[in-house]
Amino acid sequence: MKIGVFSTKPYDREYFEKYENTHHYSVTYFETALNSHTAGLTVGFDVVCVFVNDSVGKDTIEQLSKNGIKLIALRCAGYNNVDLKSAKKHNIKVVRVPAYSPEAVAEHTVALILTLNRKTHKAYNRVREGNFSLKNLIGFNLSGKTVGVIGTGQIGIAFCRIIKGFGCNIVAFDITKSEELVKLGVQYLPLNEVLQRSDILSLHCPLNPKTKHLVNEESIALMKDGVMVINTSRGALINTVDVIQGLSDKKIGYLGIDVYEQEENLFFEDLSESIIQDDQILRLNSFPNVLITSHQAYFTKEAMEQITTTTLNNIEAFDKGLELKNEVT
Ligand code: NAD
Repeated sequence: MKIGVFSTKPYDREYFEKYENTHHYSVTYFETALNSHTAGLTVGFDVVCVFVNDSVGKDTIEQLSKNGIKLIALRCAGYNNVDLKSAKKHNIKVVRVPAYSPEAVAEHTVALILTLNRKTHKAYNRVREGNFSLKNLIGFNLSGKTVGVIGTGQIGIAFCRIIKGFGCNIVAFDITKSEELVKLGVQYLPLNEVLQRSDILSLHCPLNPKTKHLVNEESIALMKDGVMVINTSRGALINTVDVIQGLSDKKIGYLGIDVYEQEENLFFEDLSESIIQDDQILRLNSFPNVLITSHQAYFTKEAMEQITTTTLNNIEAFDKGLELKNEVT
């Protein structure tokens, strides 16, 4: 099996190289993302391994099919960047890593909440510069606050377990209930009620046509004044223009995002010496109550181990004609 790994960063390579010998596959690493412009690189490969910002739409898949690709191995959980219909049409299987550490993402979500609330990022800079003032550093107690969780799958559940420990009341919306969370005291409510009641709203559902722009002008209007909105799921769950308006109107009190609608042109790259052309991210960065991380919620040693071993096991199962437990259909 010849595997082409796209969007490779040194840390991806480090983990793949640790395990690739156990599988005896020929692995080639490409720094570039896979998309319709780079799909030509896949000639001679059997498998492409892709991540969150590779663009595996219809045009790309047609080229992959012509080049003889038989498997798209996602090294992530979300698969909104793959045109599954086209893959099926061209008889290309798609596999993913359904869970590689829900705790990693849940813990980062809590990090965003605590940082935004207690302003430790600002305090760190101040104290290093000899400024020991507490002016504008005031936060609020999490204990007793209502946290709304949209999407209570693996990450949502892990997040609820942690935030419950802070003494928060949890209200949730999902198309299916988690019995574990009901036992934990989580109250499932219709979406609008979750939006209305939450002091902190955290998004943990996948991006699909139903959830796209779930946070928009209308839903923001339903939220409490000064609400904290956290998104560690997928950027397009939030309508960026509407959220910027919500921040300008002081309706949204805090915004913490690890994902961003236009992130494929920015995230994972060092652009510190470039002129950034994305006006929306520049506007977001101008608010004192916005905290942005660049899709790092998953990024723990444990998650990287899990991503690499599951991806290689998925490829091995395909190679040996075994059942594809992690197939996306
Ligand atoms: P999961 O499949 O275990 O859970 C998703 C939950 O969302 C399910 O309970 C599902 O019923 C629910 N859901 C589906 N449609 C919904 C809707 N219309 N409204 C409300 N709920 C709905 O997935 P997970 O492992 O918990 O991951 C959730 C998302 O987190 C992924 O789809 C991915 O986009 C994102 N993610 C982000 C990172 C990161 O590093 N930032 C890492 C991993 C995953």
